[in-house]
Amino acid sequence: MKKINTKILKRAACVMAALAIGGGALYYSINKIQKVSPVSAGVQTDKPVIILDAGHGGLDGGCSTADGVPEKGINLNILLCLRDMLIVNGYDVEVTRDTDTSIHDSGVEGIANQKSSDMDNRLELFNKYSNAVCISIHQNQFTDPKYSGAQMFFSETNSASKDLAQILQNNFVKNIQPDNQREIKQCGKELFLCYFCENPTVMVECGFLSNPDEAELLKTEEYQYKVAFTIFESINEFMSRKK
Ligand SMILES: [Zn+2]
Repeated sequence: MKKINTKILKRAACVMAALAIGGGALYYSINKIQKVSPVSAGVQTDKPVIILDAGHGGLDGGCSTADGVPEKGINLNILLCLRDMLIVNGYDVEVTRDTDTSIHDSGVEGIANQKSSDMDNRLELFNKYSNAVCISIHQNQFTDPKYSGAQMFFSETNSASKDLAQILQNNFVKNIQPDNQREIKQCGKELFLCYFCENPTVMVECGFLSNPDEAELLKTEEYQYKVAFTIFESINEFMSRKK
């Protein structure tokens, strides 16, 4: 019971945060949170869809803190909070995963093949709608623990991705990392989702798990909410500039 209550409280906190700060039209519906849509390429909808990806999942933990906390769970916590903020403010949202899992096709054998299938399925969702905005949430890691700070990666596949990346980078500095002097960075094919997605897409590296101070922050719910809100605010800003 304790676990269930904690989960409900977490969701309520996200929704209350978005209500308090967002102030937009309310279309909140529990049905939308549970929505599962059929997959078909290039669907056109009346309003933009926000596609959220929590990097890694299942056997693939991604990078981890010095004490072994993998990024996959941090990514997921931020995604779930961000999803609630977006839904309560009237956005249509779809996610690549909302549990600790790989989304490879059933029947695929071997870790490498499963990873490949998993990434293909994530990309398929990113390209499912012709008017989507896509965010992939990750944590960073480097051999030298002194490095810290969020950094946004984008591809020129869609010309608007750079604008979205700059808005995100600016808001991370404004909201939570005033000393962050990182610049947005263009990626190539090595960042599969960014490069091959045809919609505006940014890979958000929220911080470095190899930096002890930043890792401690990223493990806390309070900081995860702040990161989620910063991404939420950036999507709002990007959407309002597009109008
Ligand atoms: Zn990652």
